[in-house]
Amino acid sequence: MLLYQRRLAFILFLTVCLLLIGMMSAAAQNTVTLTGYIAALNGDPPRDSNLPPQQIFLLQDRNGQVIARLEGLDSYTAFSLRDQEVRVTGRSGGTQGQTGAFPTTPLPFLEVTDIQKSGGQPSAQGAPYGAPAVSGSQPWINILCQFQGDPDIPHAPGEYNALFGNTYPGIDHYWRQISYDTVNIAGTATHLVWLPLPRPRSYYAGSTSTANANLDALFADCVNAANPYVNFTLYDGINMMFSDVLDCCAWGGWYYTSLDGQYRSWSVTWLPPWAQEYDYITHEMGHGFGLSHSSGPQVNPPSGLDIYISQWDVMSRSGGTCLVWDAGFGCIPPGTISYSLYVSGWIPSSRIATISPGTGTTITLERLRQPLSGANYLMAKIPINGSSSRYYTVEARFKAPAGQQNYDQNIPDSAIIIHDVQVGRGGWPGTNTGPALVVVDNPAAGSASYVVNGENGRWKPGETFYDAANDIQISVLSQGESSFMIFISNQLPGAPTLTAPVGGSAITSPAPVFTWGAVKYAAGYEIQVDTTNDFTSGAVIAAQTNSTRYTAPVLAAGRPYYWRVRTLSSGGTFSDWSATASFQLDSAANAAPLPRQFATTTPTLSWNRIPWASGYKIEVSRTTSFGAISSAKIVTGVSTLASQTDPLANGLYYWRVCPRRNDGAFGACSKPDSFVVNVP
Ligand SMILES: [Zn+2]
Repeated sequence: MLLYQRRLAFILFLTVCLLLIGMMSAAAQNTVTLTGYIAALNGDPPRDSNLPPQQIFLLQDRNGQVIARLEGLDSYTAFSLRDQEVRVTGRSGGTQGQTGAFPTTPLPFLEVTDIQKSGGQPSAQGAPYGAPAVSGSQPWINILCQFQGDPDIPHAPGEYNALFGNTYPGIDHYWRQISYDTVNIAGTATHLVWLPLPRPRSYYAGSTSTANANLDALFADCVNAANPYVNFTLYDGINMMFSDVLDCCAWGGWYYTSLDGQYRSWSVTWLPPWAQEYDYITHEMGHGFGLSHSSGPQVNPPSGLDIYISQWDVMSRSGGTCLVWDAGFGCIPPGTISYSLYVSGWIPSSRIATISPGTGTTITLERLRQPLSGANYLMAKIPINGSSSRYYTVEARFKAPAGQQNYDQNIPDSAIIIHDVQVGRGGWPGTNTGPALVVVDNPAAGSASYVVNGENGRWKPGETFYDAANDIQISVLSQGESSFMIFISNQLPGAPTLTAPVGGSAITSPAPVFTWGAVKYAAGYEIQVDTTNDFTSGAVIAAQTNSTRYTAPVLAAGRPYYWRVRTLSSGGTFSDWSATASFQLDSAANAAPLPRQFATTTPTLSWNRIPWASGYKIEVSRTTSFGAISSAKIVTGVSTLASQTDPLANGLYYWRVCPRRNDGAFGACSKPDSFVVNVP
């Protein structure tokens, strides 16, 4: 062995050893399977605080005890498993210490590798897997908890009670209108007393720049304070209003516990005074309803604070320009985006236009908020390459004038808004973005906020979004009083490429075979063959076929021909014509004469005798459907078995003969036969 080969062998040996050691240590890492329910909590810092968002996924056992913190999950997956008992398998990443959100016991961190429904009984809420629809009455109880020794309260209890009313702009009215009356919070109540917590704020939380509040203890003590007065089984959600700041954040999501003898998940919010505003309250309640953050732009998936920039969604940055506000509780937020409405099951399926691959269509999109038309589509969904987890949503947003009882007054403008959806995007830890990101036409034009909320994210009449890689086009055609007309195509089949005969090639077959390349999603093709390159000879051969191959009828030799093909879509529309190709049709050397070729404009056609016929009708047409007749003759007498046509131009014709009965009616006609008039 040469020296360098020995060295190489030694290096290889070392590499293998290192790999083996690596594999052994990976195997030594604990793989754990735990059974329980998944709770999800989102921590949202104050706007403009420059603090990062937080997301916590917990596994709770049947007693409500938190048994692990989960990593590698996203909001959508977690919500689709709400109230399902699951077996979670993951790699144990050590334990959490005594600080943080749920410090009752040191918690194992589990990096999730697999989740299976355990088949255990669902709890009371019982939403089926994959159908995270929230519907019907979802009453919340507002409880107001004052830290020991805290002299201040943010609002009098009656003010909260008034905020949740079912007339505009009450929060019950808000959810009814946002969800097209699928969800309401009728039955929501406020416990009309500030309840004392047993300990001062300092017991529950420290610095306001990190996530450190003991949410578990805050929940337990606030709910315990209210428990003598509140029957929690009457409610699906619990808003906890606190008299002082917590940690970095306001929190919202769902959490399992046993209250008043019932074990289940409750939607829960932890709201410090700065979050006791209309838009923060609805945002945190939205997390309770399973709504994800949304953001944009669609490229360079946003992270950190960039999830709070989209002014088109209460689940991103509410409150762009604040034209409409509540006197006590601040800016009234916009509603949520069509993606959230769609996954929540809040848009009737009849109001969703799905533009499948291979189709293109023009539709009217009614505005998403309190539409005027009860019939138009409210969103379009464009599956990318037919995927169920990658798609675009298209929605019409109208900035409602003040005075209209509608929740889109504070959006930036009236425009078509497009979102790029990737189900499962935005897991934690990681980007903490959402599945739906605003599509902008020039992400480099400025800051994320500038492009998402500005003209780059607003699609207006005359503008078209092209996704060239996926062959998707969205064109805004016009804007009406409460709707936009748009054209959407999704891999709409284009013109085919002609294969043969092309380039003026010489052909000697009297019935040439035409071939072209298959077009994806084509429902069929139409071919034209003519003696002029603008297809105006008046004798065009036209045919439709499902195949990429067409055999022409017998053609007259000794001249050039031109042909082209266009593609039929499943929606019945045609593509543009292909490029025109040409060929020269010659007689083969020593070719036999061709039958049914007439060097006269008035060929004589003949047929066999039908004994019972008293005469015959002879029809000649350019097409086999005999829609337009080029020559029609009627002959009488049992022995007249031939007829000359009217004068015909050069070209291909079809003819048929129909026998006449004694009563004057015609019997069944012959099958069409073709012939060619080719007068030199
Ligand atoms: Zn949030």
